[in-house]
Amino acid sequence: MSERSLADTFRRLIAATGPISLAQFTGESNARYYTAKDPLGSEGDFITAPEISQMFGELAGLWLADLWIRAGKPERPLYVELGPGRGTLARDALRAMKRYGLEPEAHLVEGSDALKRLQLDAVPQAHFHADLSSVPMDGPMLLVANEFLDALPVRQLVMTPDGWRERMVAADGTGRFVFVAGRQPMDAAVPEARRAAEAGTILETCPGAAAVLFEAAGRLVEQGGAALFVDYGHDAPRTGSTLQAVARHRKVDPFAAPGEADLTAHVDFAAMADVAQSRGAKWLGTVPQGAWLRALGIDSRAEALADFAPQHRDALMRAKERLTGDGQMGLLFKVMGLTGPEWPDGVGF
Ligand code: SAH
Repeated sequence: MSERSLADTFRRLIAATGPISLAQFTGESNARYYTAKDPLGSEGDFITAPEISQMFGELAGLWLADLWIRAGKPERPLYVELGPGRGTLARDALRAMKRYGLEPEAHLVEGSDALKRLQLDAVPQAHFHADLSSVPMDGPMLLVANEFLDALPVRQLVMTPDGWRERMVAADGTGRFVFVAGRQPMDAAVPEARRAAEAGTILETCPGAAAVLFEAAGRLVEQGGAALFVDYGHDAPRTGSTLQAVARHRKVDPFAAPGEADLTAHVDFAAMADVAQSRGAKWLGTVPQGAWLRALGIDSRAEALADFAPQHRDALMRAKERLTGDGQMGLLFKVMGLTGPEWPDGVGF
């Protein structure tokens, strides 16, 4: 017996109780999407930086090791990764750290059983958590999150002739999902400075991402440590929808097949930095991925790997270009660095 499609579940729910919020639609869609399968890699739906090249995870590990050493090698360091995918970044980062005498306990925050199995193959000693709350607090936290925040549920507000409303999802006569404005006035949810806007203006927020930053920053203050959040997004506030869906390396309609395509939205790094700083964490900066990787020495790392394996030189140089090129991931993707208040500044910011 095949499982009922999520689209049918949503249609029944909407028929019974009315339109659902976009946050519920995106949250349940991605929960379903990630539960059962491995969406990563060239055979899957999308490919991420650590899957493009080992250099990405190694340089992230190196960045953390450098900070830990300059912080005086505090005891019981904890490597924490949010949404580790196939575990590739964790494996590469932990290998690089070990070369500098850093061998932290590994704590992976993951919601998908299918991906947990792959992560355990890559990092057999890993401990698993459903969220940050159960990760130990008795040592400095060295945290990495690559393409994690963009997968969390998004909420959108729209300016209507009657004021701000939440964007809800309804179904039309043929069962297709369509946006409608909610009935509840939402003006109070919009910061005063942005409240006056033309009809049709959309404000997108990600309450789940803000909650993650709130908790992670609180831990950096309490436990010490450093964090890297890498994602595609913008570092100044914007209006408009950035919601998109990707399946088999192509953009698709986010409403077409909920649970079968990856739904993402650009990360609002300015908002994330505000949350982190409001908790007392040190914000090192938010910089383009290409510039950050170059500052960490990706050019010489690529040369060293190519000298070691000349038959892979072309592939290595192509991978480096993909990670750093302006028209590729180099500018669209951003790296945000945070540390505890007493920790040193990190390379590349
Ligand atoms: N960081 C990996 C994978 C990115 S895909 C890489 O760069 O390759 C997003 C990851 O976040 C997946 O591992 C997915 O299962 C996980 N994820 C998404 N939403 C989550 C949630 N609410 N709680 C825990 N993990 C989540």
